[in-house]
Amino acid sequence: MTTTPALSHVAVIGGGICGLTAAHRLARRGVRVTLIEGSAQLGGLGTFFRHGNRWVERFYHCVMPSDAALLQLLDELGLKDSVRWRKTTMGMLVDGERHRFNSALDLLRFTPLRFFDRLRFGVVSLLLRRLGRGRDLDTLRTEDWLRGLYGRRVWEDLFAPMFGSKFGPAFGDVPALYLWQRLGRERNVATRGYPDGGYKTIIDALRESIESAGGTIRLSSPVHRLSHTAEGCSLTFADGESLNVDRVVSTVPLPLLRRLADNDLATRLPGTTLAYQGVVTAALFLRRPLTGHYWTPVLRSGTDFDGVVEMSALAGSYESAHLVYLMHYTDRESNLYREPDDAIAARWTAQLLRVHPGLRAADIEDVRVFKAPFVEPVYPRGYLAQRPPVVVDGTNVLLATTAHVYPDVTSWNSSVALANEVTDLIAGLERQKVGEPA
Ligand SMILES: Cc1cc2nc3c(=O)[nH]c(=O)nc-3n(C[C@H](O)[C@H](O)[C@H](O)COP(=O)(O)OP(=O)(O)OC[C@H]3O[C@@H](n4cnc5c(N)ncnc54)[C@H](O)[C@@H]3O)c2cc1C
Repeated sequence: MTTTPALSHVAVIGGGICGLTAAHRLARRGVRVTLIEGSAQLGGLGTFFRHGNRWVERFYHCVMPSDAALLQLLDELGLKDSVRWRKTTMGMLVDGERHRFNSALDLLRFTPLRFFDRLRFGVVSLLLRRLGRGRDLDTLRTEDWLRGLYGRRVWEDLFAPMFGSKFGPAFGDVPALYLWQRLGRERNVATRGYPDGGYKTIIDALRESIESAGGTIRLSSPVHRLSHTAEGCSLTFADGESLNVDRVVSTVPLPLLRRLADNDLATRLPGTTLAYQGVVTAALFLRRPLTGHYWTPVLRSGTDFDGVVEMSALAGSYESAHLVYLMHYTDRESNLYREPDDAIAARWTAQLLRVHPGLRAADIEDVRVFKAPFVEPVYPRGYLAQRPPVVVDGTNVLLATTAHVYPDVTSWNSSVALANEVTDLIAGLERQKVGEPA
C-alpha cells in the first residue's frame, strides 16, 4: 500500500503584513502553518493603538489605487469596499514658508525655485517617466540622474533635502530606479485610500482566516535561534522550547535574521550587510485641522522632523481630534533614535507650533512617539543583481523581506505581492513532494 506524504509544516516568522499574507495563503491551501510573532501584536509596521473609539496606526499608512496585489487580497477578505478613497493634496514648507504644490499654477508661484528652474521642473516632471524608460536606472546614481535632468539648483535646493530625508546622506547613491518607481506610484494630487476601521480590520481579517483554516498563531514568541537541519528547520524560543518544522518563511529584516541564524545558516545568507534606515514618528491629536494637505515635506525650516502627514485629510477625524504625523527617517544608532520619547514629543511639538503660528499649544490634545529600527533598506547601485534569492541555498528557509521587494517601493502592496510569490513557490514544492508536477 502506498501512502501519500503529509503536507509540510511551515513556520512563518514575523506577523507583519508579509507574514500574515503568507500564513493566510498557506493555511488556505491546506498547509500546516504556524505564524510566530515576537511582539504582543500582529501587524508589524502597521500596528496600532487605541485613541478614544478608534484604532490608530503607529505609522501613517494609506492605500494607492495602483496597489493591485493588496486590493486583490482585500477583495478576498471581503474588505475591498471598506476602503474609502479621497483626492488628497500636497503642501511644501520651505524656509519656514508654506506653499501649495499641486498644480502648474502652484509651481509657477513656488518662489523657493528661480523662475527658470520652475519651468524646467514642470517640463521635466511631465516627461520624467518617459525619460527614464529604457535606461539602466538600477546602476545610475539618483543624484547623477536628477542633476542631469533638473539641474544643480533643483537637486540641491529641493530633491536632495526632500527625498534624501528617507535615506540620509546616502540618498544620492541610491539607484535612480527606486525613485522612478516611487514617482510612478505617488503623485502630488493623488487619490488615496484608507480602510474603514483602520488597518487593524485587515490584520484581524487575516488572523481570522488563518485560524479558521487550522493555522496556529503565536504572539510574544520571539524566535531566538534558527537552524537548518537534515529534516528541515529548527526554531528555538527564549525559554529553550524548540519547534521542528519542514520549512521556514522568514519575513524579519535581514540584519535581525543574521542574529537568529546558526553559523551554517548565517554563512548562506547573502545581502545581510544591507544598511537600513529606521524612523521616528510623532502622532499628534489636534483640536483643529492643520493645512488640509495629506503630505507636506518640510525643508530648511529649523525642525527636526522633515515631513508632516495630515492623516485626517484622508481618514477623517478621530473622535473630535485631527490626526497629524511628524516624521524623521534616521539610523537606529542616531542620537534622535536613542532620545527618550517625551523629550522628542516636547521638542517636535514646540517646533510645529513655531512653523504654524496659527496653531496654539491648547490645540494639542495628545502626542505619541513611535520608533521602528528597520524600515527602508538603503539599496546600493546594481541591487537588482545583488538582491538576495528567496530560497536560501541548500536549506528549507525562504526569505520574504522588505529587502526583496526592490525595485518596488516598500509598502503593504509589495509585501503582499512578495508573499504571493513565495507561497506559490512553496505550493509548487509541495506538489512535487506528493508526486505531482510543480
Ligand atoms: C512611517 C511609515 C509609513 C509607511 N507608509 C506606508 C503607506 O502609506 N502605505 C503602505 O502600503 N506602506 C507604508 N509603509 C511601509 C509598510 O509598513 C511596510 O512596507 C510593511 O509593513 C512591511 O511589512 P513586513 O511584514 O514585510 O515587515 P514588518 O511589518 O516589519 O513585520 C516584520 C515582523 O517580524 C517580527 N519579528 C522581528 N523579529 C522577530 C523574531 N525574532 N521572532 C518573531 N517575530 C519577529 C516583527 O515584530 C514584525 O511584526 C510605511 C512604513 C512606515 C514605517
